[in-house]
Amino acid sequence: MTQSETLFERAQKTIPGGVNSPVRAFKSVGGTPRFIASASGAWLTDADGKRYVDYVGSWGPMILGHQFPAVQQAIVEQAAIGTSYGAPTEAEIEMAELLCARVPGLQMVRMCNSGTEATMSALRLARGATGRDYILKFEGCYHGHGDALLVKAGSGLLTFGVPTSPGVPADLAKYTLTATYNDLSSAEALFKQYSHQIAAVIVEPVAGNMNCVPPAPGFLQGLRSLCDADGSLLIFDEVMTGFRVGPSCATGLYGVRADLVTLGKIIGGGLPVGAFGGSRAVMSQLAPLGPIYQAGTLSGNPLAMAAGLAILKALAEPGLYERLEASTAQLLAGLQKAADEAGIAFTTTQVGSMFGLYFGQGPITGFADVSACDAQRFKRFFHLMLDRGVYLAPSAFEAGFVSAAHGPEELAQTIEAARASFAILAQ
Ligand code: PLP
Repeated sequence: MTQSETLFERAQKTIPGGVNSPVRAFKSVGGTPRFIASASGAWLTDADGKRYVDYVGSWGPMILGHQFPAVQQAIVEQAAIGTSYGAPTEAEIEMAELLCARVPGLQMVRMCNSGTEATMSALRLARGATGRDYILKFEGCYHGHGDALLVKAGSGLLTFGVPTSPGVPADLAKYTLTATYNDLSSAEALFKQYSHQIAAVIVEPVAGNMNCVPPAPGFLQGLRSLCDADGSLLIFDEVMTGFRVGPSCATGLYGVRADLVTLGKIIGGGLPVGAFGGSRAVMSQLAPLGPIYQAGTLSGNPLAMAAGLAILKALAEPGLYERLEASTAQLLAGLQKAADEAGIAFTTTQVGSMFGLYFGQGPITGFADVSACDAQRFKRFFHLMLDRGVYLAPSAFEAGFVSAAHGPEELAQTIEAARASFAILAQ
């Protein structure tokens, strides 16, 4: 038995499914999750001492690689003077100032502790600010596990939302309307039916929870116009894309301004964090300035602020995002070539250092295209790559991430592993 197998067996006795977040359990790919002992740069080392090139990056935060020196140092220095005070600190101001300076349209920010908290709070704020109850999301987009967001479309576009998890009251889920990503007309139809009742549209500006689906030209702009015409707020959920797809997030990359932006992952430098922000007018309605309540014992905690500020400062290095994008393009070109040579139907998507791998033909424009790909093939590919020291996300519905620590050696090893894996798949 491997150490990971022993640990997994032990974990399952006291932790539901042996994991603290479901996708870690390898359920959709089968097999035993690798228990990680340490990580450095682009590499993970598991409990058995096996090393892997890591394309999960803690599900996004590790854009500069594991144990990035400035982040490590900031955490150690802060830990030496206290980890949480429950009172304001200067670092929180610095974080808010930095986020407002970098994300177009942000005038005020509130920190919280996870992406889930950020989206839940942004929705409450949108509902409170507009006095409306309905929200509109897109099938295949994930915004954390808040009740109102664990909803997908029922049969047909114009149905009420149905909960995707027991425990979400149908009475609440009915306020969540679901449209089709990259299909403006589906959102338009809902705006017609629920005219002046939709508080907010929430969208991942690049969908990263149904693999990696870029927005079609005009889609985000179209949502902006629909919201403007109806008096709804537009929320960009940038928990994944924030500081991943570019130095001013997807908001800057696509040149479309949302009313509220949610952030997480990267801005905590690997520590638990979330944030949401927007215009002064909207954000001023939050307690203690306004009546809409939102709070947190550990919100803006000094350790997360120290790590987050360190990573955000390092991300300002000129040319860094261009290098990340170029390495990702090089990786994807290598994988595509290897698949083509093996005669495997395969396609990829990329936005900056976020990428998607698909066993099927493109173009990939939404949930239906992603679902139509060969999940069984992905499952085999995942394990073949894992055996060869490459750690991909254990699901065909997750985006992959390249970090600045992925150099020529790591990329070459990955492409080589893929060549061998595709050859086996083609047999
Ligand atoms: N929003 C998006 C776009 C996400 O990708 C995620 C997590 O993956 C969340 C929200 C939830 O964030 P967290 O897991 O920190 O609660």
